[in-house]
Amino acid sequence: MLIGGSWVEARSGERFESVNPYLGTPWATVPRAGAADVDAAVQAARAAFVDWSRTTPVARGKLLRRLADLIAERASSIARVETTDNGKLIREMEGQLRGLADYYHYFAGAADKVGGETLPADRDNFFVYTVREPLGVVAAITPWNSPVLLASWKIAPALAAGCCVVVKPAEQAPCSTLEFAALFEEAGFPPGVMNVVTGFGGEAGAPLVEHPGVDKVAFTGGTATGRAVMRGAASHLARVTLELGGKSPNVVFADADLDAAANGVVAGIFAATGQTCMAGSRLLVEDAVHDELVERLAARAASIRMGDPLDPETEMGPVAFEGHLQGVLAAIASASDEGARLVAGGTRGDGPGYFVRPTIFGDVTNDMRLAREEIFGPVLAALRFSSEEEAVALANDTAFGLAAGVWTRDVQRAHRMARALRAGTVWVNAYRAVGPAAPFGGYKDSGIGRENGIQAITGYTETKTVWIELTGATRDPFQLG
Ligand code: NAD
Repeated sequence: MLIGGSWVEARSGERFESVNPYLGTPWATVPRAGAADVDAAVQAARAAFVDWSRTTPVARGKLLRRLADLIAERASSIARVETTDNGKLIREMEGQLRGLADYYHYFAGAADKVGGETLPADRDNFFVYTVREPLGVVAAITPWNSPVLLASWKIAPALAAGCCVVVKPAEQAPCSTLEFAALFEEAGFPPGVMNVVTGFGGEAGAPLVEHPGVDKVAFTGGTATGRAVMRGAASHLARVTLELGGKSPNVVFADADLDAAANGVVAGIFAATGQTCMAGSRLLVEDAVHDELVERLAARAASIRMGDPLDPETEMGPVAFEGHLQGVLAAIASASDEGARLVAGGTRGDGPGYFVRPTIFGDVTNDMRLAREEIFGPVLAALRFSSEEEAVALANDTAFGLAAGVWTRDVQRAHRMARALRAGTVWVNAYRAVGPAAPFGGYKDSGIGRENGIQAITGYTETKTVWIELTGATRDPFQLG
């Protein structure tokens, strides 16, 4: 683990295994952190914060740019580690890692653009202004599906703002974050500005959230864990951002370009083996094209090339770990029990690893568990609608609100839908696009706060208001103001 600039073991000396989900066998061991290790990491971050918070934003921007260049150089090797650790396709990871550099360039540029204001005070004997100061130590807790990307959505704005970070990656895929953390020293960041502890949620995550030396918890993961994180952070009033789950609707109207829509639906649910928070897991299709689209999707699902995620030709890899495989298969069984009609897949795929065939259910109603609960795997629920009004009602009838897709050639309908959908991101004639300038986060049970976009950096600052008395006159001590 990286603590205070040194690579260390857990104090207990214990390690745990990380399993390669393609082979179903362990391929690495990492230290198993406990509360004492978390405390050491937070102390190291607090100590580093004293000087780091006083560096100029320009200096921080320069370091972030150097880091971005190193990321672009090492993209392939970090991508291989992540692919081996969580089974995500190399063809996705190489692009993701190269694109990752852009997040650091973006926040490097933002570092010296965020400042306070001089305020038009209601009295002329005062000069009033605000300054934005770095918030302090940030705990960044990430899931296993995109460890380095999701950590970076937190690290880049936090470091740009002058905060120090302790990252806790998921126990199922901790290796790429360690590989990535090695770049910070090379880029010239002082020891303790970036720290990584590896371990389990209860043993390392919870003590990190509850540590009084942590000023903000930036969390990505499941909704139930998000609630626990918010409760833990409340014990010492740490700030929180929560990026949680979803059951996002992908809405296809009869006037859509059906080839493009079919492609977008595949991107929404089968890319990354459906293991993305923004998965378009509920397909809503207008009656007139419902059967045709579902048929096309079933054919495409059956032809998806499953295999080694390190092979650039592979289209779908395994799910990330055995427990998750069992969970996805159980959700498929429950969907059949509820009366949904299986139109593609539905079984475990070949191979020693944790493969699930791309699965599609038709005749789904929005009250089925299949339509309400996040599965986080390659399982699509297809529903039909007969009017725009019904599409909006179905799309919004969910506890979640992370993302939504709309497929139509009607520009007015596109804007009406973008306005009506209660989701943090709406894509029109596209799916699964993200970028550093675009705020990302959820309505309702999908989370609190937004990552990315220029506003993200202010979430890592405190606002201080300064009142300067200009005349030296004394005033009535018993009056406010
Ligand atoms: P998870 O909630 O089980 O774990 C996420 C992280 O939290 C892990 O690092 C885990 O060790 C840690 N953790 C677990 N219990 C904790 C506790 N009590 N206190 C502190 N930390 C704790 O999620 P997961 O199964 O790893 O990931 C899948 C979930 O993440 C899905 O629900 C998915 O939708 C969500 N997700 C959301 C986004 C987003 O941006 N909205 C992105 C990716 C994934």
